[in-house]
Formats: sequence, C-alpha cells, structure tokens
Amino acid sequence: MLANPDLAARAADVRQVAAAVLAHLAGGPAAPPPPGSFILVRREVDPADLIRLAEAGLAGAVSVGGGASSHAAIIARGLGVPMLAGADPGVLTVPAGRPAIVDGTAGHLIVDPSPAELAAVTGPAGPRRAAGPGGRAGVSAAGSAPLRTADGQEVTLLCNVASAAETRLGLAAGAAGVGLLRTEIPFVGARAWPSQDDHRRALDPVLSLLAGRSAVVRLLDFSGDKIPPFLAGRPAGLAALLSQPRALGDQLRAVLRSGRETRLAVMVPMVASVDEMALVRAALAEAAGAVGADLPELGMMVELAATASAASAFGPASDFFSIGTNDLTSQVLGLDRADPRMRPALAADPRVLALVSQVVQAAAAAGVGVSVCGDAAADPAVLPLLIGLGVRRLSVGPARLPQVAEWIAQADSSACAALAGRALQAVAPEQAHLRVS
Ligand code: PEP
Ligand code: MG
Repeated sequence: MLANPDLAARAADVRQVAAAVLAHLAGGPAAPPPPGSFILVRREVDPADLIRLAEAGLAGAVSVGGGASSHAAIIARGLGVPMLAGADPGVLTVPAGRPAIVDGTAGHLIVDPSPAELAAVTGPAGPRRAAGPGGRAGVSAAGSAPLRTADGQEVTLLCNVASAAETRLGLAAGAAGVGLLRTEIPFVGARAWPSQDDHRRALDPVLSLLAGRSAVVRLLDFSGDKIPPFLAGRPAGLAALLSQPRALGDQLRAVLRSGRETRLAVMVPMVASVDEMALVRAALAEAAGAVGADLPELGMMVELAATASAASAFGPASDFFSIGTNDLTSQVLGLDRADPRMRPALAADPRVLALVSQVVQAAAAAGVGVSVCGDAAADPAVLPLLIGLGVRRLSVGPARLPQVAEWIAQADSSACAALAGRALQAVAPEQAHLRVS
C-alpha cells in the first residue's frame, strides 16, 4: 500500500493499463467494458473500440489526439455518441469511475458535474447524447416513398457503417442501404492480412442485415490513421493490398459469399490509376468464378485531387464514382485528417467544390452513377451545395440520417444550384491572400 493517498488512488488505473497491455501482448480479447454507461477516455481513441462498445453502454468518448475528421470522430458521429477530440492531455489523469458529461457539440467535458448540470442532460429532454450531433429527431427517410427535395427531385440516402450496430441504427432511421462499408476498421489493430474467415466474421453480421438492399463494400483502406501494426513503416494503402493478390482474393471471396443476398457492389479506395481498377476487376472476376457468384458492380472512391481532376478518364474503368470529401478536402487544403482544424464543412471551399463538380459532370458523360460518402454530405452548409452540383445519392453516418433527410426535404434544387454557382465563384482563402499581397 502506498503512503501517498494520491498515488494510492492511481493504483487501480495502473492495474487497468497493465491488464490491457498484457491482454494486447497475448493477443487475447479486449478488457470487458465497465458496468452501466461510461465515457471512453484515451490518448488515441481506436474506432474499433467505439464499435465494440457501442451497444455495451458507451455514452461518450474523449481523445487527446485527432480532430473532427479522424476516423474515431467519424464513427462516433455516425453512432450518435458525443465525442471530444483534441482534448487537453490532463484528461488522462482523471481517475476512472468519476461522473462526467461529454458534450460533443460544445466541445466540453465536465468532470464531477453539479446536480444542475446533471439534471440538464438527464432531465425531460433526455440525455445529452440524444440531443447531440445526430441525435435530433427529424423527418424519417424510412417508408416506401422515395426521399425528395421540396421541388420533387429524388434523392437516395444511404448510411456509412463499419459494424452491425451502425447498420441497425441506419436502417432504423430509414437508410435505403449501406453506401460505404469501411471494412478496414475492425482490422486496424491486426498483425497480419485478414484471412477469408476473418473477413467473414466481420462481414456476416453486417451484410446479413442488408438482404435485398444496396451494400457498397469498400476494400481494405489501410491508409492515413488506419494503418495496422503489420504495415507500420511499410508501403500501406491500396498499393499494399494490390501487391498481395492472396489478401485481395481472400477479401473478395469473403465479400461475395457474405453479400450473396444483398444488392452488392464492391468499391476501391484511394484510386490513383485506371490500371488499379483493371487489376481489381480481374481479381473480382476470378473470385466470382471461384465462389460461383454473380459479378457485382465495381466502383471507385474519388478522393485524390489528381483522380478527381482526371475523372473522365476513369469513366470506362468504373461502374460508379463515390466522392470521398474527407480525404479530398484534406488533400486540396493541405490539412492532415487528424489536424484539429480539419472539419467536414471545409468541403465548401471553391477548390474542393470545383473538383466535385468535375466528377459529377464526368459521371454524367460516362453514364455512371455518382454519390458522395464523405462527411460533408451531412454538413448543413455543404449538403445544399452538393445537391446544387447535381449529386442525388448520399451516404452519411447513421445517426445523422434523420437530420439529413429533413434538410433534403426542405431543399429546393434550383436554389441549391444558384448557391453552388456562387460558391464556385467565391475566392478561396489562398487566392485572396495572393490578391492582397
Ligand atoms: C472519405 O475520404 O471521404 C471517405 C469516405 O473515406 P474515409 O473517411 O474512410 O477515408
Ligand atoms: Mg477516404
């Protein structure tokens, strides 16, 4: 027993960390969550932990690292779990078990809240997480009638998921299906390429919920803040996957088997060249032959600036485009995804909008579908601009769905087009700087 009471009070924390480290080193299961509802506080919140804990009492999350466009923040928003990213490191010294409130909208963590503060979040209006981002009730996209803008333009609204919990949430909120399944999230802590069985274990619970519905399954995107330990210090991203035909084949066969009952489409992340699409198309045909499945559509993410500006060259190679505004915005503006200044609303920058417009026009010319699955699709300032540029298919975090459906129902497509026209003409901050200097 330590003589110093402060240090003695830390003993439980140290034991908890030691247990987690030992479990990790042993490759064993993660520590069970505490009973009741709790807030996850970490130096870096792992998006896989958010998914694992989503239906086990997770009420909020706090991360010292990252910002609004980090994957943990994206998954938390999609789950409707308030999250504070870029928190003061002092938060790591708060002992476990203390009552606290996390307000993701205001960016606050209140430790040991007063009775009045507690009443404000657990009172008649319900817990703060229900009133936070995505928690607001709105017009449901559910039902047989298609979602339409105020002037009658049909819009398809899907959800972005990485787990069964998010899929259930999205379908309950009226999603027409899944527009982006981030298959890499369960494997960000992996020590080797996932086997076909590993993929099946992750895919089956999600795709079994989507019988007869759209299921756009993205191939492993081990890039940015999603690089697993086994790729650390080595080439990652799409290049890594394409250099491992066995890993690619294992994933494709698993996707085809798990997705048999769905309206399946396969999507390639971070595409930089037409050759990459040709390589995946050949592997997909081989996998479909091997498992006796129909060939699904093969589409690509447009999320690199060079790919967006050359979109017309990709038309013949891709069955559809899905615009990833998270990476596109980060690249165009030169801001890291984990930079606390990065946020979905920055996609309203005219340089990003010009690329989105180019992709939409290239899709129309090639006769292929186009959607937006980056988080800008659920941003109130960017959504009307996307509608104005001609986007009619959107995929958003599940908890954002009711609010986005309400915004779409209120939008007038001609007014949106006029707004987008003005936004495209707006002066980007960088150009403004050039003009005044
Ligand atoms: C994007 O970049 O916009 C996207 C949807 O992909 P991710 O957020 O998984 O990188
Ligand atoms: Mg991306």
